[in-house]
Amino acid sequence: MRVYLDNNATTIVDPYVFGAMEPYFVQKYGNPNSLHEFASETHPAIKQAMEKIYAGIHAPKEDSVVITSCATESNNWVLKSIYFQYILTGRKNHIILSEVEHPSIIATAKFIESMGCRVTYLPINHEGLIDPQSVRDNITDKTALVSVMWVNNETGAIFPVEEIGNICAEHKVLFHTDAVQAIGKLPVDVQSFNVDYLTMSAHKFHGPKGVGALYMKKGKELLPLLHGGSQMGGYRSGTLNVPGIIGMGKAMEQAVDALDFEMSDVRQMRDEFEDELLKIPDTFVVTPREKRAANTILISFRGIEGESMLWDLNREGVAASTGSACASEDLESNPVMEAIGAEADLAHTAVRFSLSRYTTQEELDYTLEVVKRAVVRLRGISSSYAYAPEGYKSGH
Ligand code: PLP
Repeated sequence: MRVYLDNNATTIVDPYVFGAMEPYFVQKYGNPNSLHEFASETHPAIKQAMEKIYAGIHAPKEDSVVITSCATESNNWVLKSIYFQYILTGRKNHIILSEVEHPSIIATAKFIESMGCRVTYLPINHEGLIDPQSVRDNITDKTALVSVMWVNNETGAIFPVEEIGNICAEHKVLFHTDAVQAIGKLPVDVQSFNVDYLTMSAHKFHGPKGVGALYMKKGKELLPLLHGGSQMGGYRSGTLNVPGIIGMGKAMEQAVDALDFEMSDVRQMRDEFEDELLKIPDTFVVTPREKRAANTILISFRGIEGESMLWDLNREGVAASTGSACASEDLESNPVMEAIGAEADLAHTAVRFSLSRYTTQEELDYTLEVVKRAVVRLRGISSSYAYAPEGYKSGH
């Protein structure tokens, strides 16, 4: 059996999404900017797709949604443009982020920091959550931007973006949220709170890879990302990724339709699976369930390197993640676990299971058996796990 529980990394393309995209590769392949029927026959589907993306996040018509190639691009764009518009010009000198943003935010922030911008990295607490008060405490009259993700990709923790957005509005500071892990998991309504920029990525909600977007509020426009044409209102020139845009639109529509299922059925499956995992002794989950997106579990198995667990799972067909990167011979610990302040031996033991609306009960039952076997085997050979009850270590 093959089981895919790495849906925070990417998701299967919904068959309806694939079906919607297919005609735009070999039949309707015109460049939408050309002046003939091959071009114009692509227009209705592009328009419809854009409408679905606007509707999916409740964006009003006057605001912009610019299609990009991925969330990494959208995140880079926001920070670099803010640097050019506000920091380089000397109007402001400071931005605020959470310390557990995706690397596409953190690395870009480090880059603009090296160019003279001051960056505050807000800590997370022991539950992996952010205190909105910390945003208020760090804002100065020189703060240009606050960027805090909506849902953390590792823990699934839901950050209080509504409150943070409203604090930013009070202080007239721009607010960006990376909503990559929120779309399709939570209701997203850019009109229900103050948000100026919002990042999305189609492949995280059963759309195709290589297409993302940035929502941008009217009056808060960034500088063009790519110069050279008129596409995307001049913000991002380059021939449109027609199948990608159509796929993202369809995926957004499907994600909105499936939201109740995700928040009830997927959540229930996740909770029951988590209950079973937590029956294994010496296991820990950081963020309380009710403060997490419905599909994610980041769990530590004391005494077991996350990578070893992945190896055992993979051998039996189960795909999960550790969230940590293998840098040459060094095994890096999970950055979120480190930020939480987990003991050093626990920071290396985190494994992330992320479900989707395609996950089945049978798959979770199978995974549970595989995990239990792996725990017995790996704790049996673990040098750091000496405290397990004998009976459990020998698998009884
Ligand atoms: N932001 C978050 C929170 C993510 O989880 C990811 C992907 O893992 C990204 C950004 C980057 O997405 P993309 O692959 O579209 O660049």
